[in-house]
Amino acid sequence: MGIGRLLLLLAVMLSFASGPAAAAPAASPFLALADAACTAGGDSVEAAFAVDESSLDCGPNRFDRRERFARARVELAKGGVVPAGRLIWQTNPTGFDSMLVRLDYADGTQRLVDVDAQMAVRNWDANGTFWVPVQQRGAPLTAVDVVVERPNSRAVFTRMTLSSLKDASRANHNRQLLYMLLCGILLVPIIYDLLFYRILGARFLLWHLAMAVGTLLYTLFSSGMVMVMAPDIPSFVRHCGSWLAISLTMMGTVRFSFSILEEGMVSRPVRRFLNYAVLANIVIAFLLPFEFEALRMLATDLYVISVLPIIGGMAVLLGIATLRDSRVALFLSAAFGGLMVAGTAQVLAVLDLFPRSDGFDEALYAALVILVLGSFAAVGDRFLVIKAERDHARVTARKLGAMANTDGLTGLLNRRAFDQSRRLGRGLGLLIADIDRFKAINDTYGHQRGDAVLCHAARTIEGAVRALGGGEVYRLGGEEFAILTPAVTRQQLDAAAEAIRVAIDEGAQGPDAYDMPEITISVGAVQGEGQLMHVAFAEADGALYRAKEGGRNRCVIAEGPVD
Ligand code: GH3
Ligand code: MG
Ligand code: MG
Repeated sequence: MGIGRLLLLLAVMLSFASGPAAAAPAASPFLALADAACTAGGDSVEAAFAVDESSLDCGPNRFDRRERFARARVELAKGGVVPAGRLIWQTNPTGFDSMLVRLDYADGTQRLVDVDAQMAVRNWDANGTFWVPVQQRGAPLTAVDVVVERPNSRAVFTRMTLSSLKDASRANHNRQLLYMLLCGILLVPIIYDLLFYRILGARFLLWHLAMAVGTLLYTLFSSGMVMVMAPDIPSFVRHCGSWLAISLTMMGTVRFSFSILEEGMVSRPVRRFLNYAVLANIVIAFLLPFEFEALRMLATDLYVISVLPIIGGMAVLLGIATLRDSRVALFLSAAFGGLMVAGTAQVLAVLDLFPRSDGFDEALYAALVILVLGSFAAVGDRFLVIKAERDHARVTARKLGAMANTDGLTGLLNRRAFDQSRRLGRGLGLLIADIDRFKAINDTYGHQRGDAVLCHAARTIEGAVRALGGGEVYRLGGEEFAILTPAVTRQQLDAAAEAIRVAIDEGAQGPDAYDMPEITISVGAVQGEGQLMHVAFAEADGALYRAKEGGRNRCVIAEGPVD
């Protein structure tokens, strides 16, 4: 199927497109600070700031702080070249109670910036971070020192960056445009899903809708664009919103795959495993907003880890279905491939098992959009298959319908077809013709010759009717035929009946009838007056009976209604 192949090719190409996004991040104007950060903690802001610089923790687990106030200090000399001019300090807006940023300058002066959670919300930018303006008055900045009260993810430290205000504004502006474009693209399948669901009512369209809406919400929440619509949205709601959105996408993906894959492709254990994995993921997403103290720094990790079994389960599901020659699985693999790579990399990075790069967020967005669009190609392909099946079924139904109305032996219309006429219209004549003493033909020549005679009689009657200007010929059963032919007057009806009788009488002598036993036929006829067909039939049958009584090989026209 041409279009099907094209769709698959498109899905595969989309999938490959996410690879470079993850592998080759664009040159970033953002100076990452996490590597140069050392940490400390305390029961108060003062205690945290009081920790001597030489006693800070610079080890690999330095960001896993369990104290109420966690501090991270970055000596900029260690962090890389600091851009000149006005700067902004940015980080991930995870939930926290309060934040104090202390800026150290080369001349020994310090400046404190008090950041509350709502400021973090106000000062968002399109890469999903929030920012704090940093002034370099005369003396250059030498260190950034941050104390965060009850942060609920170490991302607040690991994703700190410093950049020139101009560069960051431009980069963020570009990203904002990109995210708007993504949202626009995602609206297309959402609209199509809704429209098609109205027409088709197929369940998989609803699950695909869940996927697309989840991805749209994730893009809105995670990029911070949601704040354009709801500027007062609390930081932690925004934070949890993106996890819930991912859960919706995951649930949609799994259920969509179950319902669109062909019969017998989803084995029971895989189905059960994926159901539990999705359930666990959703439960964790709903628990995140409660900010349990015991899970404070672990909640995000826990959530991200809960995505891994879904990715793994989907890989197994699609692998098995592909081995079983599933066409849909090819589409889903192409659609899901990007997310498998980008999602796994993201999870591993959160667990510090894989270095984090700037392209990660973009790769995840790209992978999600590819998932939605690629799976949409699967929907398109499914529609093509459904359409092909429906067309085939229609042709078959038409053939069967024609067969049901055809007599198998003679190829004439049969009794069933005859019974479909409700009335005998004005200007039409009904003729019932019955071969005379046909039983004797069977008895003399055998049943097979009898069949040949029936066929020959059928062709002869058809020829005669054609010569009369057309009409329908039916084999009602045995050696009995019905003819519907135009006959406005009694004379015309008489002539038609006579023409058929003569054709049969002479047919046995005709050139194409050598070897045919001679036969004759009796005809009973009735003129149409709009009477019910079974009434007309009874009249014609009565006339036929009289023709037989009268000595056969003759025609009788019914005079009027029979009793
Ligand atoms: P009549 O002139 O009164 O119509 O006499 P008839 O012998 O034609 O009438 P009857 O109804 O007694 O016999 C009809 C015969 O047609 C009986 C049956 O064996 C034969 N017949 C019915 N259907 C078929 C068929 O499909 N093929 C053949 N070869 N014979 C058939
Ligand atoms: Mg007969
Ligand atoms: Mg008969």
